[in-house]
Amino acid sequence: MSLFRMPNVPGCQQDHDRRLPVSLLSCLLSHTIVVHNIKRGTMADIEKVIIIGSGPAGWTAAIYAARANLDPLVLEGAISSESEMIPGGQLMFTTEVENYPGFPNGVDGPEMMKAFRDQALRFDVRIRTENVAKIDLSSRPFTLTTSEDKTEQAHSVIIATGASANWLGLESEQHFRKAGLGVTACATCDGAFPRYRDKPVAVIGGGDSAVEEAMFMTKFASQVHIIHRRDKLRASKIMQKRALEHPKVTVEWNSTTEDVLGDDDAGVTGLKLKNTQTGESRTLDISGMFLAIGHTPNTAFLDGQIDLDEKGYIKLKDPERSTTNVEGVFAAGDVHDSIYRQAITAAGMGCKAAIDAERWLADQGIE
Ligand SMILES: Cc1cc2nc3c(=O)[nH]c(=O)nc-3n(C[C@H](O)[C@H](O)[C@H](O)COP(=O)(O)OP(=O)(O)OC[C@H]3O[C@@H](n4cnc5c(N)ncnc54)[C@H](O)[C@@H]3O)c2cc1C
Repeated sequence: MSLFRMPNVPGCQQDHDRRLPVSLLSCLLSHTIVVHNIKRGTMADIEKVIIIGSGPAGWTAAIYAARANLDPLVLEGAISSESEMIPGGQLMFTTEVENYPGFPNGVDGPEMMKAFRDQALRFDVRIRTENVAKIDLSSRPFTLTTSEDKTEQAHSVIIATGASANWLGLESEQHFRKAGLGVTACATCDGAFPRYRDKPVAVIGGGDSAVEEAMFMTKFASQVHIIHRRDKLRASKIMQKRALEHPKVTVEWNSTTEDVLGDDDAGVTGLKLKNTQTGESRTLDISGMFLAIGHTPNTAFLDGQIDLDEKGYIKLKDPERSTTNVEGVFAAGDVHDSIYRQAITAAGMGCKAAIDAERWLADQGIE
């Protein structure tokens, strides 16, 4: 559920502004991070593996790498109230995660990420709360420059920087999204929550993801309105046919969303739509808005050195592994995966990346 709520972490008090996870994060970090065991500094001390990112993929890679005696350094991302991305990743913006195995009663997203991080700390993983601003992969060891302008060298790198959902950019959209009151970018994650059951919802977009999200929501919602700004869907013909023939799906053609309507008690109650052909505005009653206008993978810092697909996701050299076009560089999680985008799949890929890195390092005689 896309609501940020303060998890019950001993020592971290409820903050007045429940919408900003940054204050919580500072608290969590102050309880756990001491820029752990940073001991390097000379050219001779080249890291065996640096893991970039601290979502489920990054922490899982860190746990596996540490248990394989690779002594990993995690650059977990910088804390910023401006950025979509913070240490802990996308689940820091979520209250309940109900589909991650091992938590029979569900778990708060931030609490879950704290548990991942604590597990990595148990194996003495070193952590720095910095972004990678620049990376040079042209020769080994690789050179990474952080947002604090520090330089690190590494024999191998695991990229686990995730992807950020695209939003319309309306103030009302962000208000309801941050309050967890009916705006989300993940139907698989949030669609089954009671707020959407037997109620009309809207899915914004016209591509395959939008149609997939709409079809998924037909299991729960009374009616699913696809809001599309053109007069044709971009989704594949077969997907279009399924959607257009479904009794619960209506497409609002040539329509853009001008505003998300509602209040802090009821949450989202409707959308103000504008017809792109006639310019007329109207209100559509709905209880939830699902954004499906794509994600932006966090790959800009790679500056063209790693092969990406047309949407900017990292392409794997071998789809069954985590290898990229640059030997010694591995990728895991949503930064590569535009299909599943789940915590469990990201964690699984983090495990694969650490094992691949370990084997590759052993082949290089670095153990
Ligand atoms: C609202 C919402 C609810 C969701 N609910 C669920 C759910 O219930 N169940 C589920 O399974 N999935 C859910 N998901 C999806 C899940 O969050 C993602 O699939 C998962 O977090 C991906 O993990 P990841 O490790 O690949 O990346 P992310 O979690 O995206 O983490 C990326 C990390 O990289 C760091 N980073 C980015 N750029 C840099 C850089 N340049 N340098 C250093 N660090 C960097 C970020 O700070 C962050 O720590 C939800 C997603 C959203 C948006």
